[in-house]
Amino acid sequence: MNSQENGSLNRRYESLQRVAPGVFAVPDKIVNAYLVGNRDSWVLVDAGLPGSANRFKQAAEESFGVGARPRAIVLTHGHFDHVGSLVDLVQEWQVPVYAHTLELPYLTGMSYYPPPDPTVGGGAMSFMSRFFPTKPLDLGDWVKPLPLIGELAEMPGWRIIHTPGHAPGHVSFFREEDSVLIAGDAFVTTNQESFWSVVTRKQEIHRPPAYFTQDWEAAQRSVEHLANLQPAVVATGHGLPMRGTAMQTALQHLAKNFWYEAVPARGRYVREPALFDERGVAHIPPAVPDPTPKILVGIGIAALAGIAVYAWMQRSHEEEDTNNIAGVQPQRLQYRPFPEKRIPLERRVSRPAYQ
Ligand SMILES: [Zn+2]
Ligand SMILES: [Zn+2]
Repeated sequence: MNSQENGSLNRRYESLQRVAPGVFAVPDKIVNAYLVGNRDSWVLVDAGLPGSANRFKQAAEESFGVGARPRAIVLTHGHFDHVGSLVDLVQEWQVPVYAHTLELPYLTGMSYYPPPDPTVGGGAMSFMSRFFPTKPLDLGDWVKPLPLIGELAEMPGWRIIHTPGHAPGHVSFFREEDSVLIAGDAFVTTNQESFWSVVTRKQEIHRPPAYFTQDWEAAQRSVEHLANLQPAVVATGHGLPMRGTAMQTALQHLAKNFWYEAVPARGRYVREPALFDERGVAHIPPAVPDPTPKILVGIGIAALAGIAVYAWMQRSHEEEDTNNIAGVQPQRLQYRPFPEKRIPLERRVSRPAYQ
């Protein structure tokens, strides 16, 4: 077994990576999206951060040819860092968006997500999660429910697996043929709560990002389900794709020891989960004491982190020019803002009392 099989598929992070046949990762700073399929028929899984539509369009053209357009955009879940460029891409490509039924309230303007829990996880990303948006998009008729069992016609060969816990309608995708798993945030391959790990891209099989996980028992069952599939390759919402025996051992360990090692000792959603139904959030446990000192200190830390993120992004852009993956020569990705007509996808929704 060579070293590549035991580690990341590609250590470069910021440009297109071939994960498996017909699966390309498109890293977007702190999160990943995936191109899945072939020139004739492909989908985009997740839609990254705001302002990244050009990155995805360019990655698609590098993979599938000029003017490439997917058959659909498919979401693992609707958190802000997975739907950031969704409106722009729907406007550009005019294709349907698929998500699990329990995720639709956050994509049709019906419900905010529950507030994040910045008291869990311990890292700077957890700290900053208090500022992360929870407001829904409103994609109107563009968004459609995924089939509850089986597979999506636009994504043949991929089994849809409901993996709630991190989000109520979170799904993962498993290709039996070669045991490739797209796990979204059901578990991830870096410590996403730690800003340091996010920046250094340190690899580990890790629980779902804790600050946004609102049902830990469900999260445990989801990790057990995915570990039982014994995936050969895992491609997650955060961190580098991984494969090989070390990954498999770590995933089994996480599943077996989830409650003792992965669930925070205390936190807003630890003893009592948030409850959800098809209209959105049904119940939120009360907030727990937040030991973080004064808000001014917090703002200062967040500002410093923002500067660090900016510096990291600048460095990442410079690296893109030198990457060459699976015979594809990436071009520098452009970050021009989306100018034209914005479709009025965001309907005003009132902020609920629990926020
Ligand atoms: Zn998430
Ligand atoms: Zn995420």
